[in-house]
Amino acid sequence: MRAGEAYPVEVGCGLDVGALAAAALEVGDCALLTDSTVGPLYAGRVRRSLRAAGWRVLETVEVPAGEGSKSLAVYGEVLRRLARAGLMRDGALFALGGGVVGDLGGFVAASYMRGISLVMLPTTLLAMVDSSVGGKTGLDLPEGKNLVGAFLQPRLVAADLGFLESLPRRELSMGLAEVVKMGLLAGGRLFGALQRLAEALAGDAGALEELVLLSVSFKAGVVAEDERERGRRAILNYGHTVGHGLEAASGYGLAHGEAVAAGMVAEALLSRRVFGTDLVGLHERLLREAGLPVRVRGLEAAEVLGAMRRDKKRRGGEHRFVLLREVGRPVWGVEVGEEEALSAVEAVLEAA
Ligand code: NAD
Ligand code: ZN
Repeated sequence: MRAGEAYPVEVGCGLDVGALAAAALEVGDCALLTDSTVGPLYAGRVRRSLRAAGWRVLETVEVPAGEGSKSLAVYGEVLRRLARAGLMRDGALFALGGGVVGDLGGFVAASYMRGISLVMLPTTLLAMVDSSVGGKTGLDLPEGKNLVGAFLQPRLVAADLGFLESLPRRELSMGLAEVVKMGLLAGGRLFGALQRLAEALAGDAGALEELVLLSVSFKAGVVAEDERERGRRAILNYGHTVGHGLEAASGYGLAHGEAVAAGMVAEALLSRRVFGTDLVGLHERLLREAGLPVRVRGLEAAEVLGAMRRDKKRRGGEHRFVLLREVGRPVWGVEVGEEEALSAVEAVLEAA
């Protein structure tokens, strides 16, 4: 499929990455960025496909798996490896991995020689449905997550569902958290496809393909309207205001998808208060089917609110939320007072 107008997004099984990239951009020199888990599994296959289509793979850079690689130190090391390999301004970078490799590779591509072409080869469900599309790239600082970054749209996104076969089930759930979010925001066919969450979690290829295709086209459509997040793109933060607060208050011990799952339940409670629509039970059922928790243990509501207050996405005196008027009808920028926010957060916390 073609998402938005700018670049193709291909979803399928056993994709010929080299040929797809040759169709999307001019064949020439390139480098492959991956991590220490994905590289040994898939880098060889990807290199063969690239070479068969005429690409010259000058270098494969393998960074340690995990969020720690979204750092200035690793970023600097990757830049130097590309420079030593002789990659030039007309070269391309292929980012083969999850959201970490995508965010790091994206920022490398945005800044190396003032910008080179980027191809996203997402290997986690989260990266396929969320981080590889939208053009946000970035690194973490010790002071906070995603504090450095740039917008760079990739030239091609090729999501090979075959990669998901080796992905641990828990990581599938992390991606499904964003799929549930997008289904609730989108309504229509994507919401209908949430009936297949349990199948998707069990690894059913048909269910995964349908959910990935519909989610990625929804995200691409929202982003195409508002690349720089000045308006409607903000709806994609549904569940993330409380979710980020939970993540930060846990010292990032809580996984993002789990925090967003509980965050969506809290924000569904707020939606019920503000709009009178009760979608709380629906949220809980869908999230459970996706293998996600709907409550979080061992945190204090006051700490979570404190973390929400420090979140860079918040401005002004009140807490601003994306809330759901009903399925498929999100409203963004809804201001909610401290007391109400506190009680919604308390409702998703359990004593340790
Ligand atoms: P990740 O990249 O760390 O991948 C999770 C784990 O799965 C890693 O250990 C990885 O090595 C492993 N893995 C990846 N693919 C695999 C496969 N096919 N088989 C087996 N193991 C595999 O994490 P993630 O959840 O993909 O992404 C999280 C990151 O994405 C965060 O840094 C977050 O900030 C970022 N993100 C960015 C955006 C954006 O718009 N740019 C959106 C959402 C999240
Ligand atoms: Zn998220």
